[in-house]
Amino acid sequence: MEADFSKNGGLLSVILQDTRTKQVLMNGYMNEEALTKTKEDGVVWFYSRSKERLWKKGETSGHIQKVVSMKLDCDQDALLIEVDPHGPTCHTGTQSCFGDEYFNLSVLDQTVQKKLQNPEEGSYTKYLKEQGIDKILKKCGEEMTEVVLAAKNKDRENLIDESSDLLYHFLVLLNHEGLSLKDVEKNLEERHGKKQDYSIRDDIKKW
Ligand code: AMP
Ligand code: ZN
Ligand code: ZN
Ligand code: ZN
Repeated sequence: MEADFSKNGGLLSVILQDTRTKQVLMNGYMNEEALTKTKEDGVVWFYSRSKERLWKKGETSGHIQKVVSMKLDCDQDALLIEVDPHGPTCHTGTQSCFGDEYFNLSVLDQTVQKKLQNPEEGSYTKYLKEQGIDKILKKCGEEMTEVVLAAKNKDRENLIDESSDLLYHFLVLLNHEGLSLKDVEKNLEERHGKKQDYSIRDDIKKW
């Protein structure tokens, strides 16, 4: 599908989204040339309305935005780009132009990965890494048991607490083994995409 530049004075509205956490990062504008440059370079180019010129995002800050995928909206006048951001996207220094208050499991996954790679003094993740895989596995088992007990006891608050413990330790386990939440998400997405006849019976056969 071709982009429609005719509606907004030759400009396309462009939204950048972090491919990993799905956080919305910024809004900008592209003219036809900026879109061509973006496709050629694999990094985001905008048209600056104030400077009235093409602008490679990160040209002075170095915080370039690597293109992962691009999607036009329903009437082709807006573009959603999933990017791998190299540094904060906003020139004020925040990750996103819409502020840094953003959290989901992918953010935690990324934080855990970073902490395993660059252990901070006194961090619990560093402690787990030093203790090794057997300790991590033991913790995962314990936390799962605590989840089960909280559910059995109908203790909602405790169930939420223990679920948090479990998810955190589970992400430590995945990342310790060189995997991440992304790998699991991809697998789930593939299953989700399967036809309805991916039946329970198939699962039973497998087991
Ligand atoms: P950069 O493209 O990151 O090298 O930044 C160069 C200049 O572009 C900044 O000084 C700002 O004027 C402008 N700029 C960069 N990022 C943004 C943004 N997210 N929103 C608005 N203006 C920006
Ligand atoms: Zn539209
Ligand atoms: Zn900004
Ligand atoms: Zn616990």
